[in-house]
Amino acid sequence: MTRAYQNYIAGEWCDSDSGRRFDNVNPADHSDIVGTFPKSTSQDVDRAVRAASEAFYQWSLTPAPVRGEIMKKAGDLLVERKEEIAQVMTREMGKVIAETRGDTQEGIDTAYYAFGESRRMFGRTVPSELPNKYNMTTRMPLGVVGVITPWNFPLAIPTWKLFPALTCGNTVVFKSATDTPATATTFVEILLEAGVPSGVVNLVHGGGSEVGEALVDHQDIAAISFTGSSAVGKRIHSRAGGELKRVSLELGGKNAQIVMDDADLDLALEGVLWGAFGTTGQRCTATSRLILHKKIHDRFIEMLEAATSKLRLGNGLDEEVQVGPVINLGARENIHEYVQIGKKEGAQLILGGEPATGGDLDKGTFYQPTIFTGVIPGMRIHDEEIFGPVLSVIETVDLSEAIAILNATQYGLSSSLYTQRIDAAFVAMRDIECGITYINGPTIGAECHMPFGGAKNTGNGHREGGYGPYDFFSETKTIYVDYSGKLQRAQIDNR
Ligand code: NAD
Repeated sequence: MTRAYQNYIAGEWCDSDSGRRFDNVNPADHSDIVGTFPKSTSQDVDRAVRAASEAFYQWSLTPAPVRGEIMKKAGDLLVERKEEIAQVMTREMGKVIAETRGDTQEGIDTAYYAFGESRRMFGRTVPSELPNKYNMTTRMPLGVVGVITPWNFPLAIPTWKLFPALTCGNTVVFKSATDTPATATTFVEILLEAGVPSGVVNLVHGGGSEVGEALVDHQDIAAISFTGSSAVGKRIHSRAGGELKRVSLELGGKNAQIVMDDADLDLALEGVLWGAFGTTGQRCTATSRLILHKKIHDRFIEMLEAATSKLRLGNGLDEEVQVGPVINLGARENIHEYVQIGKKEGAQLILGGEPATGGDLDKGTFYQPTIFTGVIPGMRIHDEEIFGPVLSVIETVDLSEAIAILNATQYGLSSSLYTQRIDAAFVAMRDIECGITYINGPTIGAECHMPFGGAKNTGNGHREGGYGPYDFFSETKTIYVDYSGKLQRAQIDNR
């Protein structure tokens, strides 16, 4: 029987006030319903925020290393349930099992990072300009934070937000994506089993316009941490920013890999296959543009076409499959529309360009790995995020033109350069306008302890991964202790 999942509010698993539900469908096999979930409302969000507000003070008094031990226990439980989580994740969003194991591992790494960070959470002591006076800074939590996540990293991204938010002493209302609510539920179950107290974490399932907006607009939410599309991110920024809420946005990308004429072409080929078609191109860091030096262009295209046409599509639970489905019918239509736009714009479609069908592929939403050559900046397939297995190839004459092309989009998330020249690598590291640059590696491959995020329209300057979120989820408090026994006026009495 299909499992009927619930919200988790104020320490209880419960249904939505609306009484309505939605299905979570396997994109590799639409007859497989992973579960049904509550279609929640603004009333559910309000109850969750109230529960989180009530739980806040006590949780904020819990010593940070004790909170950290709970995160460590959650990491241990993720280790125990890693395979089960990966299987459900592949079923609900389609990426291949090796990748959903990786997604879960990133959650584990992030839990253990939080455990370590909970014993640091450093403030500073700084000399005062006055005698017998002590100056220091400490960190304090923000209050109730709203977490809104996308479907493409169903465990890793929620852990990037919830582990630091909780370790810093905040309480959380979490709205996961409607395509991946099962993994979100397992994550919350694990947090509870690890010892997160009642009310500290609340999970509300449902759509962006009902649950997401109610969370963003709620007057008792101190901060919103959002990962998703730039269009939704801008909307959240203006609504929450208008109320002076703290907002962290991790948004879209249009990432490029440059291959120079001196590069190791076999290595560059492996990189672009993984970067462009891993996760079926549905990563914010996916390689959606390939910038090839003209001297190796034709040879590399031949190699790329041959290797891409051998990629095995299918249900990601099959260990042999390399490319899973796209997330849903709407996404497939959007990808196909971009392919028509590319053709009309005059780019050459050299591979793919159609939904992938036949046999078991007819059960789900698959799309052929697709390559366009002859792409130039200004074409929509060059400039806009497609979020699917579509690679646009651009020819270039030298490194400085290649970098100018790489920079010629509104986004600035990830980038990659394949070269054997150290000078070229350093020029790229300096001149590329992206939050992340890989040398001789593909555009994907974040590690949990390194800052993650982008420049330009990829976000609003915050970083996930590493220490950045601990700054975001806490407030600096500056403290002066005057033990001189008299009024000491700074800037006046000592001059
Ligand atoms: P999306 O923007 O459609 O949805 C993201 C989340 O926001 C979902 O939970 C959704 O329900 C919610 N939402 C939708 N409308 C909302 C509204 N008006 N108010 C509040 N919440 C709302 O994105 P998606 O399709 O789930 O994910 C794909 C996008 O996410 C791509 O653009 C991708 O590049 C981006 N992404 C970015 C990063 C990063 O770290 N930069 C990582 C992964 C994905």
